[in-house]
Amino acid sequence: MPAAASPAKDSAVSAFDQPIARLTGAGPRVLEKLAARGLSTLQDLWLHLPLRYEDRTTLTPIRALQAGVAAQVEGTVEAVERGFRYRPMLRVAIGDDSQATLVLRFFHFRSQQVNQFRVGARVRCYGTPRAGQHGLEIVHPSYRVLEESDAGELGEQLDPVYPAIEGIGPATLRKLIVQALDRLPDEASLELLPSEWLQGLGLPSLRTALLAMHRPARDADLAALAAGTHPAQRRLALEELLAHHLSLRRQRIALQRHRAPALKGQGALAKRLQDALPFELTGAQQRVFAQVRHDLAQPSPMLRLVQGDVGSGKTVVAALAAMLAVEAGKQAALAAPTELLAEQHLANLRAWLEPLGVRVAWLAGKVTGKARATVLADVASGAAQVVVGTHALMQEGVAFHDLALAIVDEQHRFGVHQRLALREKGASDDAVPHQLVMTATPIPRTLAMAAYADLDVSAIDELPPGRTPVQTIALSGERRPELVERIRAACAEGRQAYWVCTLIDDSDEVVAQAAQTTFEQLSAAMPELRIALVHGRMKAGDKQATMRAFKQGDVDLLVATTVIEVGVDVPNASLMIVENAERLGLAQLHQLRGRVGRGATASTCVLLYQPPLSQMAKQRLATLRETNDGFVIAEKDLELRGPGELLGTRQTGLANFRVADLARDAALLPQVRELAERLLHESPALADRIIGRWVGGAARYASA
Ligand code: ADP
Ligand code: MG
Repeated sequence: MPAAASPAKDSAVSAFDQPIARLTGAGPRVLEKLAARGLSTLQDLWLHLPLRYEDRTTLTPIRALQAGVAAQVEGTVEAVERGFRYRPMLRVAIGDDSQATLVLRFFHFRSQQVNQFRVGARVRCYGTPRAGQHGLEIVHPSYRVLEESDAGELGEQLDPVYPAIEGIGPATLRKLIVQALDRLPDEASLELLPSEWLQGLGLPSLRTALLAMHRPARDADLAALAAGTHPAQRRLALEELLAHHLSLRRQRIALQRHRAPALKGQGALAKRLQDALPFELTGAQQRVFAQVRHDLAQPSPMLRLVQGDVGSGKTVVAALAAMLAVEAGKQAALAAPTELLAEQHLANLRAWLEPLGVRVAWLAGKVTGKARATVLADVASGAAQVVVGTHALMQEGVAFHDLALAIVDEQHRFGVHQRLALREKGASDDAVPHQLVMTATPIPRTLAMAAYADLDVSAIDELPPGRTPVQTIALSGERRPELVERIRAACAEGRQAYWVCTLIDDSDEVVAQAAQTTFEQLSAAMPELRIALVHGRMKAGDKQATMRAFKQGDVDLLVATTVIEVGVDVPNASLMIVENAERLGLAQLHQLRGRVGRGATASTCVLLYQPPLSQMAKQRLATLRETNDGFVIAEKDLELRGPGELLGTRQTGLANFRVADLARDAALLPQVRELAERLLHESPALADRIIGRWVGGAARYASA
């Protein structure tokens, strides 16, 4: 690392960790309330950044006040009126040199307060005026009665307003933060980032940034601060993003130190599978399989994410990869987040692999007793070459003979921890299995970089040929009756349809149509059709039987909850109706819609909504009408919802940033990545300190 990166002294690092308990006013009760919000060290207080600021650096003449614009004024009490018309009320009229009067109005007050406001007393107050009965008034201003001797000097800095912490008054919180800031180490000891690098980006030092946030000068760029684009904010976000990125990269590096079985076979088994498939692989599938195959041939573990839109054909790529493990005499495991999906994978893999003489075993939570013992024995002996299942695969007591490849489907439904648990199943003499993670929820490129710094990413960015894009229409719920005709028409052509309800139970408060009710209504309206119901509260066996019947074409219309959301594959289904579509997120709607349009027939997705639509819901529905491209939808989702929701805390913990906001700060990510690589190569110890400062105890994946 260049000398400019003068690493902080240890005293500074420990200042970060100093407990708040040392501060005056931090009694046990206050500490407890702070801890409940995750604040326990001085650093936590430094990073408890203001929500907004109040400008008490100037006085505004009363005449110049504007309704809706916060200001500080000073005046002399002209009249005091205490009333009890409907509830207690105190009105204080103050006037100043501008020959105008302002009313201060209080609904809650103590008699002591009333006494303070003597006619002729000098009062300074701050608040947002509004139009009252007699000109402008401020309701519950913050105020101070100035003593005769009080010169009433104005401050030089804006007053921070902090996010409230339950059980702690704003004044107490402010005092604690002031003390914490007074203990900020000097610039050199605090700084961890290379100064030439910060200069290059035009960003301030950490100390300067923190002070600029907590104590902005009166001429600070408030608009930039409010928008989160102030250099001080970008500086803090940069370091935080860097810390998270480094921590993911560290995990990656730690994993790479392990060995993994190099699967270098001829690929004969994969070739046989490919030849036996009723279709040709798309170019994208071939390319991604080649990448996977290259990774698997290495003696260090693969950690690859395959992104592919719904229906892009990820399963077959997974199956081909599994064949490389089997050919080498080893095992592969495929885990799916729901039983329904896992069962479908099982059916696909059995159909594809058993003709090749490959033994596929099934392990889910409901496999119990003797059956379970048999499966576990087969998994442990290696007789089971490919094991398909749910998270049950990752539980204790499941021991593989020689697991070479762990495949996780739709990983966004799993926590990072679960993913790691499956990896650990292979740990024998330091060797870990290769990992293939598949997701149909594409995330925008910039985000992928941040979220998956520990993964290599491939994209199956092409759909199998012959698919007609799904036509999407949005209809108000009142037009529900028209849909009966649509369903009849589709089924008359031998097609099948989904009707998706967003709740299982009827509920008074929520407008959502319960699946059960809908099922009964639809059955009554279309007695000639074979209609079935599937929801999450049904017994697994019944659910499976219903799905199977639908898949085999024995059911025309499937009324379902979102249990069918991910991965369910019935190519003959060409119509989907989603009720209360306005309640679902873009990604989820796109997933749902992906259940149709899997065959060659033109398919339709009808999004039923309950008016009036919020602006956000309108935009979501419009996006879905306009595009079928999961990547475009992901970008839009990011724009509309922000990354926290998009990624989900479970997936990455990325939603837990203190300062950074991925949507807002996405432009910093390329620099973050660049600096991360440099630090890891040139100054790994410094990288660790940056991680420790920001991710610290939360570096829970670091041991992975
Ligand atoms: P997803 O990527 O959503 O998991 P699947 O793996 O379930 O998609 O594949 C969707 C459907 O497309 C399946 O019926 C699968 O057999 C079929 N499929 C996969 N690849 C191709 C291909 N290259 N050509 C035609 N059909 C394909
Ligand atoms: Mg799938």
